[in-house]
Amino acid sequence: MKKISRRVFNKKLSTGLFGAGALASMPFACGMGHNSSKKTSLGIALVGLGSYSTYQLAPALAQTKHCHLAGIVTGTKEKESLWASNYNIPVTNIYNYQNFDEIAKNKDIDIVYVVLPNSLHAEFSIRAAKAGKHVICEKPMAISVEECDAIIQSCEKAGVNLGIGYRLHSEPYTQEVKRFVKENTFGKINYVLAEAAYRSTGNPGQWRLNKRLSGGGALMNMGVYSIQSAIYGTGENPLSVSAQEYSTRPEYFKETDETITAQLKFPSGALGNIFTSHNANANRLYASCDSGWFALEPANNYGPLAGNSSLGPIAFEHESQQKLQMDDFASHILYGTENRAPGAMGKRDMIIVEAIYKSIAEGGSTIPLNLGNMGLVGYRP
Ligand code: NAD
Repeated sequence: MKKISRRVFNKKLSTGLFGAGALASMPFACGMGHNSSKKTSLGIALVGLGSYSTYQLAPALAQTKHCHLAGIVTGTKEKESLWASNYNIPVTNIYNYQNFDEIAKNKDIDIVYVVLPNSLHAEFSIRAAKAGKHVICEKPMAISVEECDAIIQSCEKAGVNLGIGYRLHSEPYTQEVKRFVKENTFGKINYVLAEAAYRSTGNPGQWRLNKRLSGGGALMNMGVYSIQSAIYGTGENPLSVSAQEYSTRPEYFKETDETITAQLKFPSGALGNIFTSHNANANRLYASCDSGWFALEPANNYGPLAGNSSLGPIAFEHESQQKLQMDDFASHILYGTENRAPGAMGKRDMIIVEAIYKSIAEGGSTIPLNLGNMGLVGYRP
């Protein structure tokens, strides 16, 4: 991970990014599942071989240092032989959704990565935990706070680690924003704009437009990125939220929200304005502070991201975010490094999602959020 040198931004990245490599030689382990002892690279099984697994996670797993693709779980017979030959996966490491629980006996697989439609995250994360496997659960963590609690409790009970697929926490631009916030580089933060949206025109039968499978529309899919960046852009959890919903294509978005704006009030007095949509393209984080400003645009796609600030540009060399994310989680299990996106973070975001829907249902009323420091990792104390 190399930073492109800049006049002002000449400090090293937060130690976490470099720390994993340095720690790799250390002979201790933390939070090991029963299959993980003495390994230096953990086996991951991907559950759900759709677009994200196929085009992002599997290629990233060819580059990871602390983990590798060891197994697959799919409901599509044809994908079994295709993935087996593409990725050299033995037949004993291939499961379907029915026999998935047999994965408990498989010593090659240490981590189960749930990459299914949102409403299936809880079921498969819980089954993975019961099988004694560490769990990475894609965003949004689940479709309700109640489901998030059930996942967290199952992982705690099974003594396995839980991470959410918030890949940005492992990439350098987001870490730089977190550093600005922590070190007060631009003084008090007064306003954060966080936008995460794209225009959807695809198959109207897709699961993202089906509320039973998605749990919601733009807010569940992209809105969690705006919530995330408003929080790491201020380093605080919000005290309250009020929200508005807009619909311009109700014939396409029959069951799910199309566009949502929301205002977050933070303990320091900062205001967060978030925008998420399946009807417009937007991808931005902007923060206005007492002594300047910082911005990322794009802020949340697969990269390369780009950044600027009142002190000068922000620039890093690009690496696969998914590679960094999965290596971070494997290092957390193997060497006790920070879990950058724990279950409490996914649950916190779902509390905010539910509050946003509640505010909309109540005509934009202000909903208090009693979050304390919940889900915060390495931000402003
Ligand atoms: P996708 O539609 O491409 O793939 C979904 C997979 O789930 C398919 O293989 C499908 O066969 C399988 N599936 C199993 N049961 C299903 C059912 N009942 N209905 C529909 N599909 C079913 O979706 P995707 O883009 O790969 O997204 C999967 C998950 O990953 C979602 O939760 C999404 O939010 C998340 N995701 C995260 C990122 C990220 O950047 N972190 C990016 C894309 C997707």
